[in-house]
Amino acid sequence: MTRADDSLPTRRLTVAYVAALSLIALLSGSVHLLLDHVISQQRDSGTIINVAGRQRMLSQRIGLLARDFYEGHDEAARVPLLQAAATMERAHRALLGGTGDMGITHSLSDAARTLYFSPPADLDRRTRDLVLAARILAGAEGPDAGTADIRARVFADIRDQTRDILMPMLDQAVRQFETEATERIEGLRRAQQGVLAILLTTLLAEAVFIFRPLVGRLKAYAGRLYDMATRDVLTGLPNRRHFLEVGEREVRRGREAGQPQALLMIDIDHFKAINDTLGHAVGDRVLSQFGRLLQGWLREGEVAGRIGGEEFAVLLPDADTVDAAARAETLRRAVEAAPVNGHATLAWTVSIGAARVSGGDEGLADALRRADLALYAAKAAGRNRVQLSADS
Ligand code: GH3
Ligand code: MG
Ligand code: MG
Repeated sequence: MTRADDSLPTRRLTVAYVAALSLIALLSGSVHLLLDHVISQQRDSGTIINVAGRQRMLSQRIGLLARDFYEGHDEAARVPLLQAAATMERAHRALLGGTGDMGITHSLSDAARTLYFSPPADLDRRTRDLVLAARILAGAEGPDAGTADIRARVFADIRDQTRDILMPMLDQAVRQFETEATERIEGLRRAQQGVLAILLTTLLAEAVFIFRPLVGRLKAYAGRLYDMATRDVLTGLPNRRHFLEVGEREVRRGREAGQPQALLMIDIDHFKAINDTLGHAVGDRVLSQFGRLLQGWLREGEVAGRIGGEEFAVLLPDADTVDAAARAETLRRAVEAAPVNGHATLAWTVSIGAARVSGGDEGLADALRRADLALYAAKAAGRNRVQLSADS
């Protein structure tokens, strides 16, 4: 996989991530606005129902005051009668128009419009008639509005309307406004639940389709970075630093378990000559082949690493020097017996120095030094051999 291959989906994921976050922000904003709307709708509906309810009370009040004024000849009822008529008229206009007067802003629904403007209810005409009648009765309308005959008819009309006719119709208007308010708020609540569902779905989709692949990708990157930092590319073996790290840990573990441990230092013989005669590329292939051979040779628990150019080390757990020498010999023979890929006639061998990991060692480095000295001795003795460290 190349860098270009990797960066493309990562960029796509980032864009998708940002887009999903923006969508979530947008949806959260919508939920907030809807909630705000529900609250203000509830307040408005409350006001409308309240004002419509008060119309019932006002019509009753007009009926009572008209009786006091007309039949009871109570002059003191005139002003309250006119005031009640004025209030009723104002509230009526507000309910019809939703002009903002009395805190009402709405427009009449079709059902409410029928109630107000069509028979049998005809609430608009009846309300206006009642207000006008109250004014005529109180002497506030027209020059000949005050004749006895007219006043008698007007009073009878007010009495009939306020006692039997207007009340159930005003009741119906209140119920109509209540029903509409409930429906409106239910609608908004459903919309709010819908937006919430979309919000949660988006979050879930983001987790499944964006976040999870993103984490998977990051994990893969981390794994590759770890490999790059700890492995030698040519041989696939742990590099020097990683070998020392793992080796030190292994030495500590062996000591705690009271196991003997041994170290092998391996160096390919006359490797420079391979490079010089066949070229550096062949030298690389030989190194890589040796890496594979070594990995195939390793047993469970044995740790190997590429220490230098053509030098390798192996830590043998639970092995004394006799075991170590025997293990090293099997490796030496395996190399000797293996033909070099593509160069069947080329002879290649390794020299191996073996040393035990001593209880007096500071750490792995001391044992490495002794194994290295043994390796020098193997070279000096003619190569292609295993040499035990002098103090092992
Ligand atoms: P000796 O038997 O004494 O070990 O002789 P030698 O030629 O193997 O040892 P020397 O140290 O003289 O040469 C090692 C050579 O290994 C020199 C260096 O160019 C080569 N080398 C080191 N790393 C690499 C590598 O990664 N690839 C290749 N092709 N050659 C390498
Ligand atoms: Mg060397
Ligand atoms: Mg060498």
